[in-house]
Order: sequence, then C-alpha cells, then structure tokens
Amino acid sequence: MTYRAPVSDIVFMMNSAAGLKAGIEDGIYADLGDGIAEATLNEAARFAENVLAPLNRVGDQVGAKWDDGTVTTAPGWPDAYRQFVAGGWQSLTGGQDHGGMSLPQVLLAGCLDMWNGANMAFMLGPVLTFGAIDALEAHASDALKHTYLAKMISGEWPATMNLTEPGAGSDLNPLRTRAERATDGSYRITGQKIFITYGEHDMVENIVHLVLARLPDAPPGTRGISLFVVPKFLVNADGSLGARNDVRCAGIEHKLGIHGSPTCMMTYGDNGGAVGYLVGEENRGLACMFTMMNDARLATGLQGVSIGEAAFQHALAYAGERRQGRTAAGGPGPNAIIGHPDVKRMLLTMKALTHSARAVCYLTAGVIDRSRRLKDPAARKAAADRASLLTPLAKAYPADIGNEVASLGVQIHGGMGFVEETGAAQFMRDARIIPIYEGTNGIQAIDLVTRKLPLDGGGVIKTEIAEMHAVAGELRAANDRAFGASADRLADAVDALDRATAFMLDRLGAPADEALACATPYLRLFGLVRGGATLASVALAAHRAQVANGSDASQAGRIATARFFAENILTAAAGLETTITGSAQSVLDAGAALAV
Ligand SMILES: Cc1cc2nc3c(=O)[nH]c(=O)nc-3n(C[C@H](O)[C@H](O)[C@H](O)COP(=O)(O)OP(=O)(O)OC[C@H]3O[C@@H](n4cnc5c(N)ncnc54)[C@H](O)[C@@H]3O)c2cc1C
Repeated sequence: MTYRAPVSDIVFMMNSAAGLKAGIEDGIYADLGDGIAEATLNEAARFAENVLAPLNRVGDQVGAKWDDGTVTTAPGWPDAYRQFVAGGWQSLTGGQDHGGMSLPQVLLAGCLDMWNGANMAFMLGPVLTFGAIDALEAHASDALKHTYLAKMISGEWPATMNLTEPGAGSDLNPLRTRAERATDGSYRITGQKIFITYGEHDMVENIVHLVLARLPDAPPGTRGISLFVVPKFLVNADGSLGARNDVRCAGIEHKLGIHGSPTCMMTYGDNGGAVGYLVGEENRGLACMFTMMNDARLATGLQGVSIGEAAFQHALAYAGERRQGRTAAGGPGPNAIIGHPDVKRMLLTMKALTHSARAVCYLTAGVIDRSRRLKDPAARKAAADRASLLTPLAKAYPADIGNEVASLGVQIHGGMGFVEETGAAQFMRDARIIPIYEGTNGIQAIDLVTRKLPLDGGGVIKTEIAEMHAVAGELRAANDRAFGASADRLADAVDALDRATAFMLDRLGAPADEALACATPYLRLFGLVRGGATLASVALAAHRAQVANGSDASQAGRIATARFFAENILTAAAGLETTITGSAQSVLDAGAALAV
C-alpha cells in the first residue's frame, strides 16, 4: 500500500479549522487566493507520493551510515533532496528579501502533513531548516542574514539545532559547550553535542549549525546561554565556500526508528575551536532558539498526524483484503476483516484520533498566522497568547495520537503487523520518537500547566473554553440526526475541562507539585476536548456544504468521523477530570510503590 496524500481532507480542514477561506476574504491570507493554496498542495502531494514515499522503506532498511566522520544517506535520498531544493519547497515560508515566498504557516502545515506521511525521516532535516530560517530572520545581524539566509531558504545549506549534550537534555542549565570571544568579533566554540538530527550527511555542500554555548563570564543557568551560527564550511567574503570549520561528526546513533535520519554526535573545537558567529545578544540565546523550537513543536506534532494518516491508510487497505471468519453482511466466508465490528471500531478510532490531531495542528497554525498577520495590535496580541497556549498541545497531543494510531494499525494486521514485511511496524517504530524530542511530552504538559494556563490571569484558557462551548451550542442548534449525541457529549466534555482548569489554576501557587502530578492527564483532556470541538466545527462546515450543495459522501464522512469521536472517544473526558481533581496525592504519596 503506497501513501496517498489526502489533499481534499487537508483543504477542507484548512478552511474549517484554520480559517483559510475566511482569511482569504478578510485579507489575512490574500497571498493564498485564486486557488494558490490548492495548486501548491496538489504539487506538494505529487512530490510526497512520487518522490518521498517510494524512498521510505529503503530509508528504514538501509538507513544512514557513518564512516570516519562522513555520513552516507540511503540510496536515492540525495537525489530526492536535490528535487526538494529544485522544487523550491524549502523557500515556502522564508522572507522575500532572501528569496523566500513568505507563505503562511497553515500552508506549510498542509505540505508537512503530506511530506511526513510519505517519509517522516527524510523531512526531519527540512523541518529544522524552516525553524532556523525563522530564528535568523528574527534575531540575526544583517551581515549574518546576508551570508546565510538565501542559501538556507533555497535549501542548499540546511540547518541543524544543537541544544542537547550528555548532561543537558530537558534541563539546559548544566549546558557546558563553551564560546570564547575572538579578536575579529567571531567566537571559538568547543564542546560536544549529542542527538543532532542531520548533523552530518552527503546531500548538500554545506550545513549551518545553530549551536547553544556559554561564554566564560556568562551568568550560571539558562540566563547565560548564547546562540551561534557555526557553518560546516566557512564562507568567503564573495559567498564561496572556504576552509572546513573545526566541527566533526563523531558517530551516529543506532535507533528504534527513523533510520534514514542520521542522529549525530557532534564535536566542536577538537583543533582549537570552531568559528562561530553570535545570533542576537550574548546570554540571550535561549530566547532566540525558542523562535526555532516553537516552530519545530508544531511541525513535530504534525509528524504524529502524518504517521496516523499513513498507518490508517495502510490498515484500511489490509482490512479490505485480509479474509477471516464470517461477518453479518459478508455472505459465505471467509469475509474481509473490515466487516467485523471490532475491526471497524479500530479503524474508526484510528481515523477519528488522527483527524482530531490534525484539527488541533491546523487550528494552531491558523492562530500563529493571525498572531503575525493581523493589522490590529490588540488582536495580534490576543492571537499570540492563544498560539502560546496551543503550542504545547499541538506538539504533545498529536505525538501521542500518532503512537496510539500506529499501534492500532499493527493490531489490525494481526501477526503480520509484528513482522516487518507489511510496513505497519515501521510506522510504530518511527512514531516512538515524536513524544520524546522537541521537549518531551511531559515537559510540554508542565509548560501548558505552569506557564500557559496562567496567561492573562487565566483569561486565555477561559476564552478558549467559551469558544468550545459555543461550538457545542451550534451543533445543538443545527439539530441534524447525523450528529447523533455529539452536541451533548461535547458540552459535557467542555464542562469537564472547565472544572479541571479551575482546579489546576487554584493549585498553581507554590508548591505546585499537585498540579505537576496531573499535568499530563490535563494536557490529554485539553487535547481531546480541543480536538473534539474543532472536529465538530469541521462537521458543521460539512453540514452547511450539504445543505447548500446536496448530499456528498466526503461531507457525510466528515460528519460521521466527528460523531464517532464525540460518542466513543470524548467520553473519556469525565474520567480524566476525576483523575485530575482527585489523584495527585496517590502520585505524590506513592513512594512505597516505587521503592526498590
Ligand atoms: C532521534 C533523536 C533526534 C534528536 N534530535 C535533536 C536535535 O536535532 N537537536 C537537539 O538539540 N536535540 C535532539 N534530540 C534530543 C532530544 O530533544 C532529547 O532527547 C529530549 O529533549 C529529552 O532529553 P533527554 O534525552 O536528556 O531526556 P531527560 O531530560 O533525561 O528526560 C528523561 C525523562 O525524564 C522526564 N523529565 C526530565 N526533566 C523533567 C522535569 N523537570 N519534570 C518532569 N519530567 C522530567 C522527561 O520527560 C523524560 O521522560 C534528539 C533525540 C533523539 C532521540
């Protein structure tokens, strides 16, 4: 089963969840009018299906290989990367000053959805480059922009993100990589970074490393971290490539999944110090890196959506072919397993969870665009606060969903899911990293609860909850039998979130351990309710389209998916509320259970 890019679902979700059509009309997305969004997505779909998807298996089976500092990617990958650059795909969102198209996040989200679904390991490099471009555009000097941005935006010089060290992962306070000031205004970087995605490879002539390091006189902790551009090859004044910089890939990791993506140990400064150039101000590097990380968080969440979509397509095809047992409507057996209610339930769960995660991601992309494109400063600030609230959700919820859906995909394949031949297992192995990198899901939950819920004195989350209540009201008013009990289930779930939020806000004063103990169930509850409410908005849009244009199988499918989600999955909200409001002590007092 090869990957089929779900363009029409993506366009419909962009319009109904991210406000694309409304944004074209009110000018926010003027650049996507005249069918530009659809044309771009159709072209991106062709790239996904024809170039990336055929290389997914070879990436998994052959993987990236390290030899004495060089990394060779899987057969066919360098050529696919050349096609990615030639197609201008890296330049979608970069600024026009340096050759970019300045297109919005929502369009990038649609493209990433399909490209990751076709070949997630391939896309990890370009995803980081999109974020690095944003970081340099926001924080770098004109000279740095002049030297690097055009080549990064074209994709010729992709970027990496270097935070992690052996002693510094979730906690960057102990970060040890050092930066010394040089007399010419540059810096000399020395230290070791681990787990660096695409830190070294054979697909390009130069790589732009964005590296966090500490100056000798820096304050301790994260207030003393600076950000540097450290190119693999130094760049001459005329833009040509000069000497090899003092940076080397000391090895790559052997991993559970994403074998095609080299995960590199990088050493800086073995021969006196790698030349680095400061981005932004000294000791303000983490704030600069956050520009990159925030973009990367949404892009990482989209990987969960994409894996869910690909695993669902795979399982659906298998369930139509595999014959076992008799089904009520199947006639003389054996019948295709898709006719068994339990298999149907698994398939519907895969689809509904994936679409809920997609809804959360596209909603977040639309809000990010509004935070950058709205004219009114107060409206822009409100959108920025909302984007802050939604970003940890858009990373962590889809990351978990991608894993759950991939696991269900293996289950639907029975024993054939557990052997590698069918490809179902690769989705599960590839998905497992998504909740770990770009800030673990646990760290996202803590960010949501401790930093995002208190935004505007709790006003931002309250506005969010009010909006979701309004969607439940619209569903009730639409009064269509096809919605089943969706309106009641959604209203109950939003109420549960409302009460759980009040509980969490109450407990955020020090010591916050009670809130921290329930941060992950709270994020799950918020994800389910936000996903369910946005799916309901999608279903309402489908309902309106049917009223205007007559019945249509795709629209009926959207309504049925939202209804399944509300009646079968959103019902977990009540249990999560009970966990959040009543279980913290069982975590905090449970030392005996973990005693060794
Ligand atoms: C394939 C791969 C690619 C990667 N790519 C990159 C890259 O390109 N650039 C880069 O810089 N890094 C990269 N990473 C590193 C990745 O971001 C880290 O692995 C991740 O941030 C977690 O850090 P850690 O591994 O040190 O885990 P730890 O920080 O040791 O965490 C272990 C566990 O403890 C939990 N935990 C830790 N601190 C807390 C806390 N305060 N409260 C509650 N729970 C806590 C975590 O949630 C986790 O479950 C990559 C990693 C992998 C495996």
